[in-house]
Amino acid sequence: MPFGKPAGIPCVQLLPDFRCALFGQPERPAVCASLRPMEEMCGGTRGEALDFLAHLEVATRCTEDAVGFTKASPHAR
Ligand code: SF4
Repeated sequence: MPFGKPAGIPCVQLLPDFRCALFGQPERPAVCASLRPMEEMCGGTRGEALDFLAHLEVATRCTEDAVGFTKASPHAR
């Protein structure tokens, strides 16, 4: 996705059966290829994995302030 994947929006490369259309291809983003799944992120069910993903999207979303856009963080004011 040219400007990154917005939070809450499925990747355009995600197939209907939830596989990556770019898996194994050089066009697959480096961040995707380098990601190593951990038990914590996968959980025991698809629902638990989606909950973890939703948490990450909230924790890393951009917020607009008087200066511009900044990453949300526990240290942000
Ligand atoms: S692995 Fe990356 S490119 Fe493939 S569907 Fe997931 S986010 Fe999209």
